[in-house]
Amino acid sequence: MKNQYDVIVIGGGASGMMAAGRAAERGKRVLLLEKNKNLGEKLKITGGGRCNITNAEESEHIFLSRFGKAARWLYSPFSQFGVKDTFSFFEKRGLPLAVEEEKRVFPKTEKAADVVRAFIENLKEKNAEIRTEAAVSGFLTDNNIIQKVIVSKEELAASSFILSTGGLSHPETGSTGDGFRWLEAIGHTVQKPTPDLVPIAVKDSWVKELSGITLSDAKITFFTNNQKKLSLKGKILFTHFGLSGPLILNASKKISDMLQEGAVMAAIDAFPNIDLGMLDKRITEIFDANKNKAIKNVFAIIAPEGTAKAILPLLKNIDPEKKVHSVTKEERMEMARLLKALLIGISGLMGYDKAIVVDGGLSLQEVDAKTMRSKLYRNLYITGDLLNINRPSGGYSLQLCWTTGHVAGSNA
Ligand SMILES: Cc1cc2nc3c(=O)[nH]c(=O)nc-3n(C[C@H](O)[C@H](O)[C@H](O)COP(=O)(O)OP(=O)(O)OC[C@H]3O[C@@H](n4cnc5c(N)ncnc54)[C@H](O)[C@@H]3O)c2cc1C
Repeated sequence: MKNQYDVIVIGGGASGMMAAGRAAERGKRVLLLEKNKNLGEKLKITGGGRCNITNAEESEHIFLSRFGKAARWLYSPFSQFGVKDTFSFFEKRGLPLAVEEEKRVFPKTEKAADVVRAFIENLKEKNAEIRTEAAVSGFLTDNNIIQKVIVSKEELAASSFILSTGGLSHPETGSTGDGFRWLEAIGHTVQKPTPDLVPIAVKDSWVKELSGITLSDAKITFFTNNQKKLSLKGKILFTHFGLSGPLILNASKKISDMLQEGAVMAAIDAFPNIDLGMLDKRITEIFDANKNKAIKNVFAIIAPEGTAKAILPLLKNIDPEKKVHSVTKEERMEMARLLKALLIGISGLMGYDKAIVVDGGLSLQEVDAKTMRSKLYRNLYITGDLLNINRPSGGYSLQLCWTTGHVAGSNA
């Protein structure tokens, strides 16, 4: 008996929508199953709601090297659908893209919701059937073939199945690890997922008071047992639980290793481009111009924008009511030293709910790179965050979804 569908895609996130659209474009009868009420819930929150859609690194070699051990495996899928294809895919669908700092690419409209809308229009135009509020509870297999998926009490058959249920990060968006469990249950090897690209939680309450503030050019140095372990320069974002931003996210694995060794401290240099002497000179000039004001009113001119109120109480030996003209050299130096080394106790990394992706997932040895087909089940294809591929922040995760989704949709 002929199946009702050629392809059933499970999971209407980034890679699933790409896969379903591509399979439908080939004239396949496609059903996309999504457990949420709406498609692309995670996609909508990417890039702070702006969606860092890909990275415009021109050298394919450098681009792929960012995926570490998976780089070689990715040559074949990227030769089928790479960064240039991503640009033309979205531009053809009325969504021009713009390249920003560090070659991060965003839609010109700066709205992740527009990316989701472009996919939905594409799916409708290609006549893919979409079923939302359709939670798949498992597969029926026979002789290394996936026969059916179960949705509530219904069993749905298809010639091929594309599994795109995502990882475990931000589970409120629907990625609750179902795919990892099913893959393991049917005999695949899944490396235990752990949170990756994760913000840092801190002990100090003054850091949390700075929630929402970004230091656009700061240096942060991490120490364990008083030994300097890692120094990074760039943008640091303060949040209500600690520190975040691409610089911190990309270092989270190293920080996790440091936490295994013992207590971790960080020191933020808010003025990394000038030395202590030059900073003192700057403070002196500001003081000279504001001699009769209280320190508390002048500190805001000295400290990075928006930080003075939270940082001032850290100057334990200085009375904030004191007039600037009576500040001693030692007190002035204390301010300069503080701004060059704001000490923070790191309490740990945040969990899945705040992670961008997970480390771990389906072993690439069990997936054919040319087609995304499982090597154990000849009608099963796997995409996106389910695959065990590490990558940094910067648009690499979504590019991986476009590439693996397109390749799966081209072959299923
Ligand atoms: C806060 C945040 C910001 C991010 N920003 C960026 C960024 O700017 N750039 C970038 O490159 N990457 C970013 N990422 C990573 C990126 O969002 C993911 O890599 C990507 O969404 C993974 O796509 P996916 O298709 O594998 O899974 P998902 O997008 O997670 O989609 C999986 C879908 O499957 C559905 N599903 C799960 N189980 C079932 C089931 N049993 N039945 C039916 N449906 C099911 C889910 O509801 C979900 O809709 C960000 C991630 C987060 C959390």
